[in-house]
Parts: sequence; C-alpha cells; structure tokens
Amino acid sequence: MGYTDWFKKHAQKHKVIVAKLLSKNYSKEQIIDYFDFENMKREEKDFCPLYAKDKKCHDMESLNCYLCACPNFRFNDTGIEKVEEKTKFSFCSIDSKDGRVGVYGEKIHQDCSKCGVPHHRVFVEKHFDIAWEKMMKKCQYEAI
Ligand code: SF4
Repeated sequence: MGYTDWFKKHAQKHKVIVAKLLSKNYSKEQIIDYFDFENMKREEKDFCPLYAKDKKCHDMESLNCYLCACPNFRFNDTGIEKVEEKTKFSFCSIDSKDGRVGVYGEKIHQDCSKCGVPHHRVFVEKHFDIAWEKMMKKCQYEAI
C-alpha cells in the first residue's frame, strides 16, 4: 500500500472514532486520553495492527496514538526528488535527530522507527484538531 492509500484509510478510521467520541460530548482532553495506546488496544482493535500483538510502534512508556502518522512527515508516492540515481519518496520536515534516512535499493524513505515525537501527549495537545486530515495537511508533498 502506498502512502496515499494508507493516509486515506487511516483518516477514515480516525474520523469514525472521533465522531463517536464527539457524539458522547468528549472534551479535547478526554479525546486525547482515549487515544492512549493502552485504551486504544482494548477499545479500538482495528485502528492499528500492532494492538493485537500488544506491541507499541515505539519504545515509550506512555504512547498516544492520536497523531499517527506525524504532521512532520512529507511524502509523495511518485517520488519527491532524485538523489544520485535513487528516488526519494519521503522525508522529515524538521529533520528530527531521532529520524533516519532509509535507503532500500533504489528507494529512499524516511525511517521514523526511532522517533517518538508525534506520540508525546504535549505534541498531540499542540497540534490537536478533530479533523485528522487538517493536522496532516502538509504531509502530501509536491514532487519537484
Ligand atoms: S522522524 Fe519523527 S518528527 Fe520526523 S516525520 Fe518521523 S516521526 Fe515525525
């Protein structure tokens, strides 16, 4: 599945959950609490395939799933630029010290596996919006 397909599917799953919480008059704080990994793995089993394995995507004691993916991620499924015969498909807009450039044959992808930035509650509070696509509006990057 390409980035775009994943984004569309994930946006829909996120929207359904947030709509359910809003229908119960959840506040911003309550919504963020609900998206804590420990609660999500019990209540929203289909939101992430890792829930069934009781496995976090990052080694963090407290992990919030509201901002999966990450507003700092930039991607384009057809490629962003050529880098020495290779094609770059994604990168980190803040060049996080915990991120990594992953080279996979002829393809370059951002590797966020060691970066927990979007899963910290304080980051979620800062970037919070009930519309997931709005929070991620800069992620789809123009090819150059
Ligand atoms: S490296 Fe960290 S901040 Fe950068 S896009 Fe990945 S998760 Fe986000």
